[in-house]
Amino acid sequence: MGARIIDGKAVAARVRARVAAGVEEFVATHGRRPGLATVLVGDDPASAVYVAGKQKACAEAGMAAFDVRLPADAAAQEVVAELERLNADDQVSGILLQLPVPAQLDGPALTSLVDPRKDVDGLTPVNAGLLALGRPGLRPCTPLGVMELLAHEGVQLEGAEAVIVGRSNLFGKPMAQLLLGANATVTTAHSRTRDLAGVCARADVLVAAVGRARMIGAEFVKPGAVVIDVGLSRISPEEAGNKSGIVGDVDFAVVAEVASAITPVPGGVGPMTIAMLLSNTLEAARGQVR
Ligand code: NAP
Repeated sequence: MGARIIDGKAVAARVRARVAAGVEEFVATHGRRPGLATVLVGDDPASAVYVAGKQKACAEAGMAAFDVRLPADAAAQEVVAELERLNADDQVSGILLQLPVPAQLDGPALTSLVDPRKDVDGLTPVNAGLLALGRPGLRPCTPLGVMELLAHEGVQLEGAEAVIVGRSNLFGKPMAQLLLGANATVTTAHSRTRDLAGVCARADVLVAAVGRARMIGAEFVKPGAVVIDVGLSRISPEEAGNKSGIVGDVDFAVVAEVASAITPVPGGVGPMTIAMLLSNTLEAARGQVR
């Protein structure tokens, strides 16, 4: 294997330690802890696991955690009322509506009701707009985590060709904006892109966020490129070669022979998302006392 493996767990641990120190400083100055409220509607087991992870990480960073649960058949008005209550609560610095929400609800419409100063997912129209304008604001956690990994690895972004595969509001679009803000030359590819392998092979930095197991083979990767794998797919543990059965969009074994650095799945981008959520919650708390 030629590529350096980017250790997301280690970088995430450093971010979490930095946040924990910042939390103690905040407490010393303001006499209260920053707080994160998670809102979970329904009982989807995967979402419940994610929310539990976020609650635990919050407590470990010394923040207050508020665990709001609503029934699966909650009406939009109930969720709206809960979000309004949290928007008005000074103990709550950050609010995260866990997505997806049950089918009777409109996730993006509800998310847009979060006070932008408390929008630690960075998904409200106000924060998406601030990002597009290159102005300060809260940024979505996963793309922010990718930027942190690239900075930690000392990857030169200025003038680099960056290709992102995937154009979702949650990841691909904000990732493109962040890379553009770092002066990369950015291409966003998607399901209609012609000659995807050829486009990807131009990249000095290739970011895959599709959700198709191991679709990025060696022919997609320029020798020496940095490859960031955001995708998560579940296959059988035997096929995946690990206990969880989770693999990324990148065919790790073959791409690691071509790339200069690569994130593994699991253990790459995944741990960064929660770390950046904590970082955003601290930043939101600071923003609210300025
Ligand atoms: P999404 O909303 O489903 O978007 C997927 C994107 O991939 C779309 O833009 C789609 O193009 C594109 N796509 C689909 N098939 C393609 C193909 N054959 N060739 C090229 N592009 C293709 O997903 P998402 O929310 O952005 O997430 C993407 C992946 O990242 C998922 O596996 C998700 O689980 C993972 N993820 C991980 C984390 C983490 O913390 N590690 C966080 C967020 C997401 P169109 O727009 O043309 O349909």
